[in-house]
Amino acid sequence: MTAKIINGVAVSAAMRTEIRQRVDVLKQRGVTPGLAVIMVGANPASAVYVRNKIRACAEVGIQSFRYDFPADASPQQVLDLIAELNARADTHGILVQLPLPPQFSISEVLQTISADKDVDGFHLYNVGGLVVGDTVFPPCTPYGVVKLLEHEGIEIEGKNVVVVGASNIVGKPMALMLMQRDATVCICHAKTRDLAQFTILADILVVAAGHPNLILPQMVKTGAVVIDVGINRLPNGKLVGDADFEGLLPKVSYITPVPGGVGPMTVTMLLANTVASAERAAGIAPKH
Ligand code: NAD
Repeated sequence: MTAKIINGVAVSAAMRTEIRQRVDVLKQRGVTPGLAVIMVGANPASAVYVRNKIRACAEVGIQSFRYDFPADASPQQVLDLIAELNARADTHGILVQLPLPPQFSISEVLQTISADKDVDGFHLYNVGGLVVGDTVFPPCTPYGVVKLLEHEGIEIEGKNVVVVGASNIVGKPMALMLMQRDATVCICHAKTRDLAQFTILADILVVAAGHPNLILPQMVKTGAVVIDVGINRLPNGKLVGDADFEGLLPKVSYITPVPGGVGPMTVTMLLANTVASAERAAGIAPKH
């Protein structure tokens, strides 16, 4: 068996064409979707992410508003800006790039964003929606994974899914979204004993731990689907995921590469959430 390599760049491009068409419909109604991106400090990785998000907005016709604060900014300044953006009709999504400097309470910042503009899906209201299966804004990375699975026609219902990683932004929402689609879900994390005894059971294995070569071929069932969310920079500069990609290729049925798998989908789902927010504001039922 040789795995099908899931091309996140291609799926993303197709989705962005559709998003651009939705933006055009909104513009014909006099609404330009707008995304505010707030960055505090100059974390180099964050700067790259912010640049990519802003470029992607421009590509599909979403207006972006960028707000930069110095690393020593007072939390109140940022909270005041969020309050102002919550009230602005031209801003349909508000994103605060994480991490934030230590003087900030991330939770306070995220809870200040209006749940109606929380396009990252991190507000407690949206997290609660995810738990009861009534999500307004699905968090972008797991949403992108679901779209990749759907695009490849990979059935989720009744499958054994193992999610490695239990963070609030990837692992936990991923598990909830797949459980909502009637998978049997197991979540593993850094304290899990003997990871392989769980991963070997997976029909669909989603890995988001941030450790290169964490998932080796002997840990995976023949024919499994492997979705690698991890992004790791090796000392030689190479970007890799959490799975042994080359080793797994002959054993699994589908696998996502790093880069070019889940990564491009994350930004695409941010665009999708922003357009959905603008559609709701314009009285159009958003397409999920
Ligand atoms: P995190 O550090 O917040 O969480 C990592 C999770 O993995 C934790 O639950 C931890 O317990 C678990 N973990 C760590 N080591 C483990 C091990 N040896 N065995 C089992 N579980 C282990 O990270 P995060 O923000 O969830 O991100 C995870 C990875 O995904 C990182 O590499 C990150 O760069 C990447 N990421 C990619 C995208 C994307 O768009 N592709 C988006 C977000 C995060």
